[in-house]
Amino acid sequence: MTDCLFCRMVAGEIPADVVHETDRVLAFRDINPQAPTHVLVIPKQHHPTVGALALADPSLLGEVVVGAQTVAEQEGLVDDGGAEPGFRIVTNTGRQAGQTVHHVHLHVLGGRGLTWPPG
Ligand code: 5GP
Ligand code: ZN
Repeated sequence: MTDCLFCRMVAGEIPADVVHETDRVLAFRDINPQAPTHVLVIPKQHHPTVGALALADPSLLGEVVVGAQTVAEQEGLVDDGGAEPGFRIVTNTGRQAGQTVHHVHLHVLGGRGLTWPPG
């Protein structure tokens, strides 16, 4: 039993709309989507931030990034044959950056024009 929301989703204790899964990575739709595609990609193992994950297990960070790329391809954000697809990978670290769940996650956002700089 853990109080980490995403660990509980990995354990199947809380339902998730899973779009991609490997033995070490899980990707599921955000409950409050900010774009037509808004998927969260996480390592199944708990690490609090992307920096902590990079230090502890850089190959797992690579697998999470591959998971984000796979999701983007599945969602038609990489090459849809003529239009101009694209996507953004975001990871927030710390309260001021907007991190609310302290289990590292990559947001994969796409399906609409995304402005820059972010808010
Ligand atoms: P953060 O604010 O930490 O960068 O991102 C956390 C994300 O988790 C938010 O975009 C939020 O909508 C999403 N989220 C929070 N609770 C749940 C939940 O129970 N299920 C899913 N699928 N997403 C959630
Ligand atoms: Zn966790």
